[in-house]
Amino acid sequence: MEKIKMTTPLVELDGDEMTRIIWQQIKDTLLTPYIDLNTEYYDLGLPERERTGDQITVDAARAIQKYGVGVKCATITPNAQRVEEYKLSQMWKSPNGTLRAILDGTVFRAPIMVRGISPVVKNWKKPITIARHAYGDVYKNTEFKPAGPGKAELVFTDPSGKETRQTIFDFSGPGVVQGMYNTDASITSFAHSCFKFALSTHQDLWFATKDTISKQYDHRFKDIFQALYDTEYKTAFEQAGITYFYTLIDDAVARVIRSEGGYIWACKNYDGDVMSDMVSTAFGSLAMMTSVLVSPDGKYEYEAAHGTVTRHYYRHLKGEVTSTNPMATLFAWTGALAKRGELDGNAALTAFAQKLERAAIDTIESGVMTGDLAGLWEGERPAEKVTTQGFLDAIAGRLDA
Ligand code: NAP
Ligand code: MG
Repeated sequence: MEKIKMTTPLVELDGDEMTRIIWQQIKDTLLTPYIDLNTEYYDLGLPERERTGDQITVDAARAIQKYGVGVKCATITPNAQRVEEYKLSQMWKSPNGTLRAILDGTVFRAPIMVRGISPVVKNWKKPITIARHAYGDVYKNTEFKPAGPGKAELVFTDPSGKETRQTIFDFSGPGVVQGMYNTDASITSFAHSCFKFALSTHQDLWFATKDTISKQYDHRFKDIFQALYDTEYKTAFEQAGITYFYTLIDDAVARVIRSEGGYIWACKNYDGDVMSDMVSTAFGSLAMMTSVLVSPDGKYEYEAAHGTVTRHYYRHLKGEVTSTNPMATLFAWTGALAKRGELDGNAALTAFAQKLERAAIDTIESGVMTGDLAGLWEGERPAEKVTTQGFLDAIAGRLDA
C-alpha cells in the first residue's frame, strides 16, 4: 500500500521519560508504516532544554505559529529535585507555560470515551470538554494578612498620577486581603478561542461565572463573551446549528451533572482548575484525557493531559516492560494529523487519523487494554491486560484488517 503524503510539516515536540518512549513506539508502530511522516522536529526533552538554554521551547512555539499545528509529548516541569537529577544550570520554566505565553491560547480538555468503561455520572453519554482560561485571577494575586485593625483600600493610579480609591474593609482585628486582575485583551483572546473551537468541533458552548455577586469583575467576562458572540460569531453558530449560552456557575454545575455531555464548558481560571479535575476523574482515567491548546488566531497544539508517568519510567529503566496507557498520546497525534489534513485539504490524512482512533477505541472495546483501564473494565469478558507495545500492536492489527 502506498503511504499517505503530507504537504505541510507538522510541528513535533518530543518530551521526557515514559511518554518519550511511548512517543517513539507510536511512531514506529502506527504512524510511519502508513504515512510519509513530514514533521519539523523539536526536542523538548529536558537535556535539550538545558543545552539550548530553553531556546528550543521558544523555537517550537514559533514553528507552531508558522505552520499552524503542533503535537507535543509530555515534558518534565523542573523542580528542585529535577535540578539535582538532571544537573540543570537553572530551574527552567514549564514548557507548557512558555508555549501558552507565546501562542496566547486556551486549553481544551476532553475525555476519550469507550464502551465498557462508564463515567461515574451515569447519564453522561458524550464527552464534556472543559475550556480553562489559563491567565490571571487568583493565580496572579497579591495577598496580605493584616495583623490587627486597619483600613484596606483598592487604589488605582492612572498614568497621569490620578488616584481612584475604594475601601475594601475596615478591619477591627486580624484578617486577610487579596487583590487580583485580568485584562480585556486576555478575556477577549479566551472568548475567541472558545468560539473558534466550538465551531471547529461542532459543539455547543456554555460559559458561566458568578456575575450576580461579582458585578464588575465577572460581569466583564460575560459582557466580552456576549459582545463578541453578537458581532462576530452569531451567524456562523446559527449556520452550524450550535448554540452559545451564558448562565451562572452554580446553575452550570447542576446542568452539567444532569446533562448527557457533548458540549464545551468554558470556565474562568479557578473554576477550570477545579472543574477539570472533577470532570476528568468522573470520566474515569487521566490516561484517557486529551488536551489541545487553541490560540485566538486559530493555531493548534495537541497533547495528552497527563505527565511523563515518572513512576513507570523508573520501572522501565530497571528493565521492566510496562503497561502504560498510550491512548492520550496517540490521540494527540491523531488530533494533530486530522487538523493538518483539514487545513491542507488532505482528506486521506484526516481519514487515516479517524480510522486510527476508531481502531484504538475498538481495541479497548474488544477487551484488550493497559493495566490502568483493566481495573475499570465492566465488559462481559474479563479484560486482557497487555503491555504498551502489545496494545499498540493490537491496534495495528485492527488497522490492517
Ligand atoms: P503523571 O505523569 O500524569 O502520572 C501520575 C500517575 O498517574 C502515574 O504514576 C500513573 O499512576 C498515572 N498515569 C498517568 N498517565 C498514565 C498513563 N498514560 N498510563 C497509565 N497510568 C498513568 O503525573 P506526575 O507523576 O505528577 O508527573 C510526572 C512528570 O510529568 C513531572 O515531572 C511533571 O512536571 C510532568 N507533567 C507534565 C505535564 C505536561 O507536559 N503536560 C503535565 C503534568 C505533569 P500509577 O503510578 O499509579 O500507575
Ligand atoms: Mg488542578
